[in-house]
Amino acid sequence: MLNNFLSDEDVSQFRIWMDWADNFVITSHLSPDGDAAGAALAMLNYLRMKGKNAVVALPDGLPVFLKCLPSAGDIITFDRQPDRINELLDKADVICCLDYNAIGRVGGMATHLLYSKARKIMIDHHPFPGPFCDVTLSHPEASSTCEVMFHFLCALGEWEIVTRQIAECICAGMMTDTGGFTYNSNSSQLFFALSQLIDKGVDKDALYRRIFHSYSENRLRMTGYVLSEKMVVLRNCRAALITLTRKELDRFHSTKGDTEGIVNMPLQISGIVFSAFFREDAERGLIKISLRSVGDVPCNLLASEYFHGGGHRNASGGEFKGTMEECVKVFYQAIDDWSRSDDPSIRQIFDK
Ligand code: 5GP
Ligand code: MN
Repeated sequence: MLNNFLSDEDVSQFRIWMDWADNFVITSHLSPDGDAAGAALAMLNYLRMKGKNAVVALPDGLPVFLKCLPSAGDIITFDRQPDRINELLDKADVICCLDYNAIGRVGGMATHLLYSKARKIMIDHHPFPGPFCDVTLSHPEASSTCEVMFHFLCALGEWEIVTRQIAECICAGMMTDTGGFTYNSNSSQLFFALSQLIDKGVDKDALYRRIFHSYSENRLRMTGYVLSEKMVVLRNCRAALITLTRKELDRFHSTKGDTEGIVNMPLQISGIVFSAFFREDAERGLIKISLRSVGDVPCNLLASEYFHGGGHRNASGGEFKGTMEECVKVFYQAIDDWSRSDDPSIRQIFDK
């Protein structure tokens, strides 16, 4: 049975907006993942079904493996059409901010989003939501923003009319943010939601294959290279580090999304509970940081303290302006600092 963490009151503002608003702009974060894309496209398909003029505007585009999602082809991106998106944000009646909690996560879209007179709603599951929306539905206990979207549509009383396409978008986000329901997914509510999606006609197994087993040959070969040549295992702190420079990425003709999932791989080693992956982003002139951890090891603390980032306890990220060598140095310094920490959740990685 559904135990909805959103009440009728939580969605009452949005319900009122739906009565008069025509123009909706749906936004999500830089380098959109399955949850960002799934939530945005679920909202898009829902609003269109309700006869609204809705558009998904993202800072940048989807990786190839997410382009199969319903209406993904309709997404417009700020890196290609900044003027059009600024105009849409200016003229919007409602802006939906999905799967992010800090305005900086939308990159160059931030200014027009902030200053737009539109009503704003945040639907998210990251801790510590920023104060930039009129309505904030933030549920860090949820596996994914898509799980919150499921509760949102139920609270609106709209589940009956939800289509298979909407359900598929929601399923994609729940699936990707839990690694195919293998972590952060010990929740009967999550599986209740999943059962409702399957009842709407979602083929979960086919979707899994389309999302997780659609790598290019180059990506698989790059994985081989990374694991044999680039993974540094730091047994003394139960951690591992992988770095990839632009040159190495080019060698494997790496495209957007090709490095997805690499950061999780070292956690397959028995005893390793912390994994860091640094990728040179030459276009943005920085190093992109991805961190993962197991149990209550707080990788988001390291992301926020050392890499201007944040995220969830077990999945976080950030950025570093400088060379890869400097970035690695900061990481080792962070680990050294952690070794002197009093916090038991941090200390545990050094305990034998
Ligand atoms: P990923 O490693 O998949 O890029 O990101 C994992 C999670 O870390 C994201 O869902 C997001 O919560 C967080 N994250 C990644 N990059 C950043 C960043 O630059 N800043 C902040 N605040 N969070 C980030
Ligand atoms: Mn998410």
